[in-house]
Amino acid sequence: MAGSETCWCGNRDLLPFSEAYRRCPNCESLLAAHMPDGASFRVTDDERDFYGRRYFEEYAAARGFPTLRERARLDLAERCLHWLRAVLAYQPPPAAALDVGSAHGGFVALLRWAGYDASGLDLSPATNEFARAAFGVPVLTGPLEEQDIARSSLDVVAALDVLEHLPDPLGFLRRVAALLRPGGVLLLQTPCYPEGASLAGLESRQDRFLDHLHADEHLHLFSKTAVGKLCAAAGLPQVVFLDPFFAHYDLFAAASAGELRETPPEEVVRRLTASPCGRLVDALLQKDDALRLAAAQHSRETGELHARLEASEADRAARLQVIEEQGRRLGALEKEIATLRERLDKLSASRLYRLLRRAGWWKWLDPDA
Ligand SMILES: [Zn+2]
Repeated sequence: MAGSETCWCGNRDLLPFSEAYRRCPNCESLLAAHMPDGASFRVTDDERDFYGRRYFEEYAAARGFPTLRERARLDLAERCLHWLRAVLAYQPPPAAALDVGSAHGGFVALLRWAGYDASGLDLSPATNEFARAAFGVPVLTGPLEEQDIARSSLDVVAALDVLEHLPDPLGFLRRVAALLRPGGVLLLQTPCYPEGASLAGLESRQDRFLDHLHADEHLHLFSKTAVGKLCAAAGLPQVVFLDPFFAHYDLFAAASAGELRETPPEEVVRRLTASPCGRLVDALLQKDDALRLAAAQHSRETGELHARLEASEADRAARLQVIEEQGRRLGALEKEIATLRERLDKLSASRLYRLLRRAGWWKWLDPDA
């Protein structure tokens, strides 16, 4: 472990952020105060090394995440489908793709079913063995920088939940840029640091980004500005930010050396339906569209019901206020009537007294007489 004195952007004037992180005001990245060297990323002992088998089976599980086996089932129809939409939009099949940090291999499988010549890459031999057995996908083992991949041979590189783990994110992205063909696309998903935010500010609003402050594994955390600067420095200056799957704490972006152009949806369908497996993926996407539409409709209807309930509650409160006000006025009126009746009684009594006195009945009326 070495102290990080210089940011990946070259700035040495780092500001304190927390005990475990420093903040670079030049690019708005957070850097772990203690940065492990590249060697700690090699998995030679799956039982002992940090990114070995136990990373998924114990470390992630201890933080409440599903195991690799569970995720191999869960991720396919949710986050993998979300990522696939972006790949289809910017680089439809056929194309060569590499998923760095492929874990269970489900996304590699989905890409292959959609018509891509896709491979995975991960650090742990045991994890990769699982991916091969579960999905029958080709997977490389070890850091990207050490792979024998021809320059300008890939159309798509996906680095989903990878960048934050790396001690040298710029070196990694430079390698990615060298592997991409002209017009090739990098897809990134990484936690999104709300730039300029202090730890106290994040804590006071209970920002979900706080979930990512694990300095032992998340060595760099990037704002959108930082991702833009990082991609540009690596030779991928065209960056488009997309809707993240986990919108409450992630960012999702496509980056390229050249202009990023979206493929028209009908062309994506044409490419997908060119193969039997592609048709199945197309059906999965259609089903997902229908589910999302139904969820949006449900959310709209729930919103309307809430609004109607609130209006009805407000109306009820207003009516209750009127009833209470009328009750108060009725009480006041009753009091007034009682007072008037009392005064009338007194008045009547005093008039009768005067009349009786005047009539000579005073002897019986005046006790002192
Ligand atoms: Zn910086």
